Amino acid sequence: MAVERTLSIIKPDATRRNLTGKINAIFEENGLRIVAQKRIWMSRAHAKEFYKVHAERPFYASLVDFMCSGPVVVQVLEGENAVAKNRELMGATDPAKAAPGTIRALFAESIEANSVHGSDSAENAAREIAFFFAQTEIVG
Ligand code: ADP
Ligand code: MG
Repeated sequence: MAVERTLSIIKPDATRRNLTGKINAIFEENGLRIVAQKRIWMSRAHAKEFYKVHAERPFYASLVDFMCSGPVVVQVLEGENAVAKNRELMGATDPAKAAPGTIRALFAESIEANSVHGSDSAENAAREIAFFFAQTEIVG
């Protein structure tokens, strides 16, 4: 295993319910260090670009609206196997299928408003981190 970084987003449904601290505690208690973090309100253009891989999916327009519906917290998490570790802590996309104790099982409202995003590969993590953060904004 190697120390990796991954891009996490605490989505609008979670910031609205003041869940940032509870979600961050789960990351920290499980060995993921928050090495960069900022609260932003994504523009439609940014949300469309960020999720463009899903542009042909039926849920794309609604997903873009949702991601712009309130502030989000974007963060870089660092730790051993951070990409896979974060996906494990998040749980399945559909909270009804997420393992007990995962962030989505605990907090998600629906398959769309599912509280968190996490990069799904090291390659996408690097691309997504560069999308949101300048090198000088990341500790270390
Ligand atoms: P994940 O976030 O687990 O990697 P995907 O990359 O497949 O999941 O989808 C991106 C996001 O799109 C999901 O986190 C969720 O917010 C939304 N989404 C995925 N599938 C659906 C669906 N069937 N209906 C509504 N929204 C969805
Ligand atoms: Mg995904």
